[in-house]
Amino acid sequence: MTSATITLKPGKDQSLRRRHPWVFSGAIARLQGEVVEGEAVTVLAHGGEVLGVGHYAPGSIAVRMLDFGPDAQLPEAAFWEEKLRNAYQLRQGLGLTGQGNTNVYRLAHAEGDGLPGLIIDVYGDVAVVQAHSAGMYRARPHIAAALQAVVPGLRAVYDKSAETVPAKAAPGAQNGYLFGESSGQEHIVHENGHRFVVDWETGQKTGFFIDQRDNRSLLARYAPSRRVLNTFCYTGGFSVYALEAGAELVHSVDSSKKAIELTDRNAALTDHADRHEAYAQDVFSFLKDRHNQYDLIVLDPPAFAKHLSARHNALMGYKRLNVAGIKQIAPGGLLFTFSCSQVVSMELFEGAIMAAAIEAGRPARILHRLTQPADHPVSLFHPEGEYLKGLVLAVE
Ligand code: SAH
Repeated sequence: MTSATITLKPGKDQSLRRRHPWVFSGAIARLQGEVVEGEAVTVLAHGGEVLGVGHYAPGSIAVRMLDFGPDAQLPEAAFWEEKLRNAYQLRQGLGLTGQGNTNVYRLAHAEGDGLPGLIIDVYGDVAVVQAHSAGMYRARPHIAAALQAVVPGLRAVYDKSAETVPAKAAPGAQNGYLFGESSGQEHIVHENGHRFVVDWETGQKTGFFIDQRDNRSLLARYAPSRRVLNTFCYTGGFSVYALEAGAELVHSVDSSKKAIELTDRNAALTDHADRHEAYAQDVFSFLKDRHNQYDLIVLDPPAFAKHLSARHNALMGYKRLNVAGIKQIAPGGLLFTFSCSQVVSMELFEGAIMAAAIEAGRPARILHRLTQPADHPVSLFHPEGEYLKGLVLAVE
């Protein structure tokens, strides 16, 4: 038991018994004892029965659950090792941990791995930790120690929480190594045999978009002999797969100059950089002056809606982007279109894309519905963990 306890209102224990990992502040009858943001609390049903242990925060999500049931463990060394060992074994079983031709994977996907508020991405022999809650931020020393015990050959653990931890809970948080240090050299990872330079210190998020791995493989099936446009390319993941699959040409677009430099660097690691051109430009302005010149277009923008209140505008944004994209696809071409906004469901996304096809005046058929890969698992009890949606359309 923790020193502080939270007792729920009558009937508010049901979702926890189904292992939904969040306790909302409105469900709480009383808080007993002293607890500061990020410390562990024990959660009790109205009658006093222990339901589990979680990290406390004073916001609308008051507790993020770490363990359930009357014997719930306190989050100490053994707890972190067990959770991360389970997470590692899952990825190992998926063939992602470097035994094959992939050594870049998500090791911990927050609620999907029973670790609400924690993201860990592994790049070969370096793990990058991102805490999204005060509880996970405070637990970093435990997490770093558990990673060393669980991931064979780990050389360094980098903490990249400064932009993600709630600012009030960790004022002045700085990114840095929890263990090991920078090698000072370019770090190359392997994804399905393709090589990519990853820079977790200065890159966006943890440095690389691991969640598109399977969708890049699908694109490789369709890329041979096609003229490919990869918009919002970031480090050029889709571009590299298209080049190596034998695309006739590949154009990559991103508004960030740094992203374009990384894309060019990654394209240069293939033997086909002569068929690649990268543009540091706004996607909307780029699409304006193209005329049906691509056989395959990828639209993978950043999340247009971070909150429910922004959902309507996000849907309008997806529609506008897809109108512009669809217009530039040659007849019979393919569109790979994505949304990584958690609050936009597949149903809503499909509606926006349908509206875009109508406005563009181009009949289209759905060939594939896409999502995030298996190392970004979604707990059945926490469907909110699903965020990536994609459609592959054949455009007439
Ligand atoms: N598809 C990428 C990930 C995309 S992340 C991959 O597979 O790795 C989103 C990218 O969109 C970021 O690199 C960001 O710089 C870029 N971006 C955001 N708004 C943009 C705009 N209006 N025009 C061009 N690029 C933009």
